[in-house]
Amino acid sequence: MADWWTRAQAVMPGGVNSPVRSFRGVGGTPFFVKESKGPHLITEDGITLVDYVMGYGPFILGHSAPPVIEAVINQAHRGLGYGVPTTQEVLYAELLCRSVPNLDVVRLVNSGTEATMSALRVARAVTGRRRVVKFAGCYHGHHDSLLIKAGSGAATLGVPDSGGVPEEVAALTITVPYNDIEAFRGLFKQYGPEIAAVIIEPVAGNMGTILPSPGFLRTVQDITHQHGALLVVDEVMTGFRVAWGGASKLFGLDPDLVCLAKVVGAGMPLGAYGGKREYMSLVAPLGPVYQAGTFSGNPVAVAAGLAQLNAIGGSEFYADLSQRTQYLAQELVALGRRHGVAVSTNVIGGMFTLFFSERAPSQFSEVEETNRKHYQAFFHGLLHRGIFFPPSPFETAFPSSQHDDGVVELTLKAADEVFRTL
Ligand SMILES: *Cc1c(COP(=O)(O)O)cnc(C)c1O
Repeated sequence: MADWWTRAQAVMPGGVNSPVRSFRGVGGTPFFVKESKGPHLITEDGITLVDYVMGYGPFILGHSAPPVIEAVINQAHRGLGYGVPTTQEVLYAELLCRSVPNLDVVRLVNSGTEATMSALRVARAVTGRRRVVKFAGCYHGHHDSLLIKAGSGAATLGVPDSGGVPEEVAALTITVPYNDIEAFRGLFKQYGPEIAAVIIEPVAGNMGTILPSPGFLRTVQDITHQHGALLVVDEVMTGFRVAWGGASKLFGLDPDLVCLAKVVGAGMPLGAYGGKREYMSLVAPLGPVYQAGTFSGNPVAVAAGLAQLNAIGGSEFYADLSQRTQYLAQELVALGRRHGVAVSTNVIGGMFTLFFSERAPSQFSEVEETNRKHYQAFFHGLLHRGIFFPPSPFETAFPSSQHDDGVVELTLKAADEVFRTL
């Protein structure tokens, strides 16, 4: 594949269309995928890999799930898009609104980035305020307001986490450590009347899987609401991944706005944002907040999403997925420790991360302190043995319903061999 990789690098930045894909595969270059099925990716070299990246989350029923593929093909025969409403959009929006807490009204978009960008715009319009709060290590997409890292100090005005983001824009985003309620309280003391919204991953998945401490989400919610700011729950990863209806349902939250993508799009480019009717009434054409999209509500994407959610069917699905994911994560930890390797895990629903640290991290700075050399060696060792794990300790592993006992045992056997070499 070296030739394709050379060609890719000549015509795309770093050879890839999203930076996380730029990692060394078995031959020292990334691998190219030919097709996918169930828990597997099949590479252009004809190698079958057990996949735990799963497109970074959407494929909860496994790759190329028959009901999803069938729905996509059926719709494709009837047209790829119209720029005019379809009844399927209504059905799909009804399903989301029925299932997700406080989702009275929903607007379909094309990605998670678009969902969070639009939700913040609504929150700023609702409150007439400028500042937003995010937690360090949470990822909400790549638009300017949220591509922000912490300055120095516990709760700080943000600085750009990317070239091309103006400092003035970055300074409107305040960052605090995840699970640090004192820092959060402190920032509201200082900036309370200026804060339009707090955006949070209810379970963080973009610094590895990080669980909210008991009471953390509720306290964040209470303080946010006491100060007249909106709580934007970013369920792009957790929605229909940790539970039917998402983490808001699981933790009994009262979100003002919710963002969705990944699982709800079943692998097609589809996102959604929405929430309480009084706030969503500000969105055009009803109100002054402009937000639009040529492909929004695309019928092929909607068909895929609807088929996947209908096939999942409800909350029972998640008991089995959780149990499987728990088993795999706990067994990996047990194996590592048996070989004297410091490992830990955070696991919930269909997400987990294996951390190379004695104790499971609870915020970004602790993930940074985990043993990255061990993670890299583990990743490459597994890949060599036909298991594609997330290429970085800042990513989450996503088992699907197709990761059956056989696949899990194969994974554990490979991991056992790799731990021995660390
Ligand atoms: C993936 C992700 C996004 C961005 O979604 P895209 O579809 O990649 O734009 C936003 N928020 C969270 C929590 C995510 O996991």
